[in-house]
This record gives sequence, structure tokens and C-alpha cells, in this order.
Amino acid sequence: MRNFYLYNSLSRKKELFEPIHPGLVGLYVCGPTVYGDAHLGHARPAITYDVLTRLFRNLGYKVRYVRNITDVGHLENDADEGEDKIAKKAKLEQLEPMEVVQTYTLLFHEAMRKLNTCPPSIEPRASGHIIEQIDLVKQLLENGFAYESNGSVYFDVDAYNRSYQYGVLSGRNLEDIKQNTRDLDGQTDKRNSYDFALWKKAAPEHIMRWPSPWSDGFPGWHLECSAMSAKYLGEEFDIHGGGMDLLFPHHECELAQNTASRGKGGVKYWMHNNMITINGQKMAKSKNNFISLEQLFTGSHSILEQAYTPMTVRFFILQAHYRSTLDFSNEALQAAEKGLAKLLQAARDLKAMTPAATAAHEEVSTLREKVYEALCDDLNTPIALSHLFEAVRWVNLAKDGKEKLSAEDIQILDELLRVILGDVLGVAEEEVADNNEQLLDGLIEMVLAERKEAKARKDFATSDAIRDRLKELGIQIKDTRDGTEWTLCK
Ligand code: ZN
Repeated sequence: MRNFYLYNSLSRKKELFEPIHPGLVGLYVCGPTVYGDAHLGHARPAITYDVLTRLFRNLGYKVRYVRNITDVGHLENDADEGEDKIAKKAKLEQLEPMEVVQTYTLLFHEAMRKLNTCPPSIEPRASGHIIEQIDLVKQLLENGFAYESNGSVYFDVDAYNRSYQYGVLSGRNLEDIKQNTRDLDGQTDKRNSYDFALWKKAAPEHIMRWPSPWSDGFPGWHLECSAMSAKYLGEEFDIHGGGMDLLFPHHECELAQNTASRGKGGVKYWMHNNMITINGQKMAKSKNNFISLEQLFTGSHSILEQAYTPMTVRFFILQAHYRSTLDFSNEALQAAEKGLAKLLQAARDLKAMTPAATAAHEEVSTLREKVYEALCDDLNTPIALSHLFEAVRWVNLAKDGKEKLSAEDIQILDELLRVILGDVLGVAEEEVADNNEQLLDGLIEMVLAERKEAKARKDFATSDAIRDRLKELGIQIKDTRDGTEWTLCK
């Protein structure tokens, strides 16, 4: 198998990737907290770890890709203060918390499908793993790295730091952390402000609650990933991914929990994608630059000059290395749109080309190796894309009659523009699904017109038969004064 080098956030250098189990990659990625629309910030990790998975599969590995759904325990300030994000949303919208979770999980899946990301192999939910999380808390208490206080349980950072080193992943030391943490305001059960919740006792009005040895309550946010990654990937696994914003406190706390419970960190390579900024600014609701993916795809946000297709967004994200920041602007997106069109046009042109009886071009044959080299160098998608544009140049030269391409040239260019671009980078023609929807609309309208005609000539046997057959196919029709409405019952 080809050597693959991956930057490890823990060692802060690129390392040769060697999986714990030969041929199998265990990948855990922190998924969304499902309390709002999927936004641009979700697209970057989704696409980064999707390309990583696709590349490993292309290289011949099996990948077990686990991405969780956070549906409980993520409190407002991203640590463990304030209200649970989902419970708050549920209260605002007068919904059951699990209705909020289901609504936004479905929307997230839909956005991810549009971006052509492969679904994870396993998508566990935090609320479905309360038993595992309680077991982990028990282990941490038993090992002396946690304490109970008024029905809540906290991780004892000082105790941990006496045996291990808290802050190794994010490059902080406890002194810095102490100085940058707000002092206790007397309202808390914690011994130290930087201790974090493993189990929180629920207030009487709190809906999401489970029984535990300490109180009716709910798990702390960091706990779920330690519990679920171990459950599905084992106590030691290959890659843990997530956005840079999760490095501290979330991943630092996960690492501490793993080490404190099992004596080892459990993760071989920590991988973090950088953030997206918008016109140079951090995305924030208060700055009115918080763009949902749906707004991006439809162009319905004041920042947007036009709509951008999911493939344009995907391509745009791949144009930057995952560890660099990526600045979103209309100009950058429009440039991506043009670049993407060129690539896809070349892929189409190539399909129609016939080989010439000529020698293979060496420049073409080296392109494949260059592309793999870039991708295997810490997933360097911008460099890989620059080589794919070189492939485009060759296709265009042949199209304009300036160069002749041999069968071997065409085979390599096809591998680049179909396998690498399509299968590995996941950049394809705009999705077929939307075309299918249009096709379905058209076909049903046609059938309904037939039925209308049958009715007009009082051929009710035919019009009823059409209605019944459509119903069998899951299409409900309803005659109204304005015509016939139809709905697809999935
Ligand atoms: Zn996580």
C-alpha cells in the first residue's frame, strides 16, 4: 500500500500513517449538535473526512467511519455552563427535545447528501449511549480522577494533572488554563473552575434526564465521544477528527477522560480541520454572517450575490488545504464555480475522445503519480487539484487539435477526471437526485393529464384505475377545485 502521511495534532508533525489493524482504518469524527440548520461550518469537516475516507478506500483500506450525533449534554457555552442547547431550542419552539433532534438530524443528512458526502458507517447518538457513559463515569470515580458533588460528577483536573499532563493536545499548560478560566461564582458544585462535568444533576424542569447512581440527570458533552468511540472502534483506534474549534476543551477533555479511565489516550492520530471565515470574519449569529447550507444553495441570504450549487461549495472547500483557514466570499465562490465547470466539461469531453495512433505523453503519465503524492501528503487537495487542471489542459489541447492523445494518455486522464475527481474528491456532476425529482414531477403531471381526459369523457373506470395504481406506488392524489394535487408518501 502507498505511504500516507498525516499531520498529527498531538505530535504537531506529519507522521507516516500506520493503522492499528492492518488494512482497516478506524475513524471517529465529532458530528453536529442537532439544534439548528446545517451551516457552512458543518460543510468543511464533513467534506474533509469524507475525502479522507474516500482516499483510504481508493488506496485499498476498509474504513470504519463513526460520526456521532450530539443530542444531549452540549451546554450553551461549549463547556458545561448554561442550558442544554437542544433543551433550550425545544422550549422555544414548544417541541419535545427529540423532535428538535429528529428535525435537524434529517436536515443535516439532506445537506450532507447534497454535498455528496458518504454517510458514516455508524452514526451513534449520545442519548442512545447513556449506560456506556455512566459506566465511564464510574470508572473515572474508581480511578480517583472524578468527584461527586450534590448529585453531579466532575472530572478532577488537578488529580489528573498529578499523574498525567492536562493540555498536551491543545498545547496549553494548567497554569495558562487556570488564568484563562473565570473564577467560580459560588453557584457551582465544582472544586475548580476548570473541572468539567461528567454527569449533571437535572434541574426539576429539565426534560432530558436519566437515572444514575448520583442523580436523575444527563451526561456531560465531552463524555459521549469517549464512550462511543471506544464502543465502536475499540479502546485504541486510528484517527480522531473534528474542527479546530473542538481542540479545546472538547478533545482535550476526551483525551483526559480516555487516559484517566484506561491509562492511555486511545487515539493514534488527532486530526483537525481549520475554520471557515466569511469576508475575513468569524461566522457568528451576531454578525449576520451565519449562512445555512440551504441559504447557500438557494441564494437566500443578504451576503450572497447568487445561489451556489452544493458541488461548487464542495469544490471551493477542496481548493484549500484542510489545515488552512478558508475565507468565504462571493468572488471566491464564483471563481470556484468557473473552475468546477472547466473540470466537469473536460471530463465530459474526454468521454467522447477517441485515441490516436501516437506515442503516450510522458507529462500525462506522471500526472497520476503527482496527484496521489499530493493526496497522500496530508490530504493536500489544492495541489492535487492543480494537477487535475493540468489534465484539463491536455484534454483541451486534444479537443482543439493541438495535441494527439494515445489510448494510454486517455486512460490516465480518465482515471484522473473520473476516479480521482469523482470517486476520491467526490466532485461529480450536480446531483442526479434533483434531476430525478424533475423527472418524477413531469411523469406524474403526464399521468394526471391522462386521468383528467378520461374523466372528461366520463371514462371513470380508467380515471379510478390510474388513481388506484398511483396510490399503490405511494402517490396520493386529491381532486380539488383548482385541479389535482399529489403528494409522495415516502
Ligand atoms: Zn466529540
